[in-house]
Amino acid sequence: MVSGCGEEPAASQSISHVYTDRSARVRAPVVPELLASTWTGARECAYGVRLIAMTDRFPVLMYHRIESASCPVVAEVERSWAVPLAEFERQMNRLREAGRVGVSMEQIHGTLASRERVPPEWVGITFDDGNQSDYRHALPVLVEHGFRATFFVCGERIGAEVPETQLKEMLSAGMHIGSHAMRHRFMTSLDAREEESELTASRAALEAILGSPVVHFAPPGGRWSGRTRAALRRAGYVAVSTSRYGFNPAHTANFAYCRLPVVRATSISTFDTMMNCERLKLWRGYARAAAADAARLVMGEGLYARARTTGKDR
Ligand SMILES: [Zn+2]
Repeated sequence: MVSGCGEEPAASQSISHVYTDRSARVRAPVVPELLASTWTGARECAYGVRLIAMTDRFPVLMYHRIESASCPVVAEVERSWAVPLAEFERQMNRLREAGRVGVSMEQIHGTLASRERVPPEWVGITFDDGNQSDYRHALPVLVEHGFRATFFVCGERIGAEVPETQLKEMLSAGMHIGSHAMRHRFMTSLDAREEESELTASRAALEAILGSPVVHFAPPGGRWSGRTRAALRRAGYVAVSTSRYGFNPAHTANFAYCRLPVVRATSISTFDTMMNCERLKLWRGYARAAAADAARLVMGEGLYARARTTGKDR
């Protein structure tokens, strides 16, 4: 039988060609076959590793402002934190195409607190500060994809930046609202009384509007301490979405959850890496976070803030 013309050679023929015929004409096709099978094997192995990673841990994405012509960046210090609307849409499409589901911190914490694992397709989505783009851009895109998210709203932004009616509408659409304190002050820069007031007043203000418990918190600038933790528990909060860089275990309920910032400079390949829980590929992010922590420790909060010229990390 002559092989070719779409007819598969028998296995014995194939092996015989590989090991007995030394002519270049027969050996040549073997090399690409070996390379192809090696490539396929490597891809399957990588997929397996990714699958294990996804069942072992989950990401929580941290957004701030979504930028567009109708929601421009006003303060220059916020530019690097703003994600253009087209890029945000691309990222949400990426999640859906990959079979992922955007969920809120309420869903994540509720699942873990019920001693269930976070499903491998879940990706936490959060927005800090309370920006006009939450309602105008994030909400419609999330609803279109059937996703949910948590919006951590700063008390002083309710009204002018985020009207009460919009907050209610977001809640009705299945979104989750959390507190981002009242005045966007770092918890570590306040005395105990001020800190307590920030936590209780912001919770009360949001609950008065929403008519439902507000028990999730995100500390402004990611700054909080053991004292904050105790104050949060006294104030009735059940979980904190921090700015600590990294993934979260998919099987353990925590009081504090890590997040991964999605900013203007986040490339789509880095976004994929976050979505796929590929920790090693995010080494730059881990290194940057560690360097920032070290700088804050050495310089102190005040000097560090001035050095960054922002005076106010988001
Ligand atoms: Zn903030």
